[in-house]
Amino acid sequence: DKPSVTIIGLGSMGQALANAYLEAGHPTTVWNRTAAKADALVARGATRAATVSDALWASDLVVLCVLDYAAVDGLLAPNADMLRGRVLVNLTNGQPEQARRTGEWATAQGAEYLDGGIMAIPSMIGTPEAFILYSGSQTAFDRYQAALEVLAVPNFVGTDAGLAALNDLALLSGMYGTIAGARHATALIGPERAAEFTTSLLIPWLQAMANVLAPSSTEREAGDIPSEESPLDMQAIALANIVEASRSEGVGEDLLAHLLTPMRDIIAAGEGDVLTDLVDAIGKEIR
Ligand code: NDP
Repeated sequence: DKPSVTIIGLGSMGQALANAYLEAGHPTTVWNRTAAKADALVARGATRAATVSDALWASDLVVLCVLDYAAVDGLLAPNADMLRGRVLVNLTNGQPEQARRTGEWATAQGAEYLDGGIMAIPSMIGTPEAFILYSGSQTAFDRYQAALEVLAVPNFVGTDAGLAALNDLALLSGMYGTIAGARHATALIGPERAAEFTTSLLIPWLQAMANVLAPSSTEREAGDIPSEESPLDMQAIALANIVEASRSEGVGEDLLAHLLTPMRDIIAAGEGDVLTDLVDAIGKEIR
């Protein structure tokens, strides 16, 4: 009963995806540019496709997971005539415009298109912590939702094919910003204490503070940043202290410069509405 699936691209992520389908009992066809990467999967029961064309022919549901859109285009363009009637699920990381363009092109070839953003590393595939954002064809998503659940919790974010990539990149921005801040933190602490500091203090602190991101309903309406408990003028002074401490510890301040530079200017000016000026200044720096 389980629909057959084709996986094109067997890098670390594609291998995890193919393994999940094999474990779940879906007939699984695989193709990779470097054919040897399919060997272990074939030993576990996958069918090896000799060509991309054969891989597209083998299943109605085709999952594509390669390095970038240049690879996607290179694989699909010569096989456009094989796309009719297929549901193409492209899990390759990219920009919203690339997803829209590929979606329009694939649809013009007679395929249904779903773009996806994988919010997991390969070892998380098939676990409840993993989720994948999807956008594009709602009917294709509804038809194959059970099959998509094999990989990760599926989250359909809209019929505009670019929305999965947009949400994916936005979430990655949050992640990279957090990691960059954490690197600054451990640089301040120093290499000897960094590991212990990270486990016992930094991770619990970041987990607790993640909750302050949730805007209350009134603040969401007003578009304001919560400020009653922790006024921003107080926070500006704390951040100015971070930059000074970073300097005296010999740690680069570049990472936080977007926040600290305008804050120092405001504090130095010593007048105006600190809170409003600060938000404006940070907004300008980021833009
Ligand atoms: P890998 O570097 O492990 O694998 C890249 C894959 O792309 C290989 O199968 C490679 O083939 C193929 N490829 C590259 N260029 C071409 C080309 N020109 N033509 C055909 N195939 C090509 O990357 P991942 O598997 O980790 O990543 C794949 C996608 O998944 C990326 O878009 C990534 O952003 C996304 N992703 C990965 C995560 C991760 O933690 N790994 C997390 C979330 C998303 P070959 O083996 O022949 O080189």
